[in-house]
Amino acid sequence: MKLGEIYSKTNVSKKIPISYEIFPPKVKPGLNEAQATADKVQKIEALIEQLRQLKCFDPALISITYGAGGTNQESTISLAKKILNELEITPMQHFTCICSSKDFIKNYLNEIETFGIKNILALKGDMPQTDGNKTVCYQDFKYANELVDFINQNSDLEIAVAGYPEKHPTAESLDVDIKNLKCKIDAGGVAIFTQLFFDNENFYSYCDKVYSSGIKKPIIPGILPVTSFSQLERMSSMCAVKLPNTVVAKFEKFQNNEQDTIKMGVEFATLQCQKLMEFGVSGLHFYTLNKAHSTREIIQNLF
Ligand code: FAD
Repeated sequence: MKLGEIYSKTNVSKKIPISYEIFPPKVKPGLNEAQATADKVQKIEALIEQLRQLKCFDPALISITYGAGGTNQESTISLAKKILNELEITPMQHFTCICSSKDFIKNYLNEIETFGIKNILALKGDMPQTDGNKTVCYQDFKYANELVDFINQNSDLEIAVAGYPEKHPTAESLDVDIKNLKCKIDAGGVAIFTQLFFDNENFYSYCDKVYSSGIKKPIIPGILPVTSFSQLERMSSMCAVKLPNTVVAKFEKFQNNEQDTIKMGVEFATLQCQKLMEFGVSGLHFYTLNKAHSTREIIQNLF
């Protein structure tokens, strides 16, 4: 199914669409080629097994991250194929334009459309840090709106874009960031998937601002089921999102107890999702971090 249909208000299923984000598993360092291949196959099979456990909730789509600069590109493609053919769930590939040329992207779009991909999340991407410095590498595209326009001109894919309820870390203000978001929508974006956040109030005021700017596309909130205190700290710092003291206090006290932290993560995200549904969101997007357990519990609590 295409994004426009999934998030259409006239979608006959009447159920709020849920989706999962996964990433291609990393291969253990230091292995020879044969060992690395075996390790990768085994990890991908384990991930598919986790997704089988989430299939019963009838997910609208599974999105697969893409390494900026093309790292992990083959794994993104092979996972998308498995999701489509073995799990029979709609995949949405992420794609980042940083360091990519128009020719490369044209071939890539052609390849993924040929095997049945209908949706793509078009991103600028961040280069991985090397020796503490960020490698800056623009080729044919500087910002995601240029990529959205290019994909729109060169494929039949439906295009999602990223949104940041607490603004993108490089944006000078939320208003400027929303202006730039509008460029992505005007170029052909049909849905906005957001960065994770822990304070729904920030999401609500973001939606108000986005809709006031004239954007009329669905905004799908990104939910992180917290499974450890260190993960909570790492993810909020990596994604540059606010970590309210009230949230820290909830999780800090369980930091040496994995089971209680997972339980609190499920409880917190369940309440967060219930409030988002009362607000009237068009969908829920779970950052699964490749694990089924917490996402499964949250969805069971919700429906
Ligand atoms: P842009 O929309 O280009 O915005 C980047 C910055 O530039 C913002 O500050 C924006 O305000 C500004 N800007 C945008 N357009 C213009 C313009 N025309 N003129 C001037 N300024 C402008 N990264 C990966 O590497 N792989 C992934 O799979 C991945 N998946 C993601 C999924 C989601 C849901 C989200 C929210 C992020 C994801 N990211 C991923 C991270 C993302 O690549 C980074 O946050 C990146 O820095 C910005 O990408 P973007 O597409 O939002 O960029």
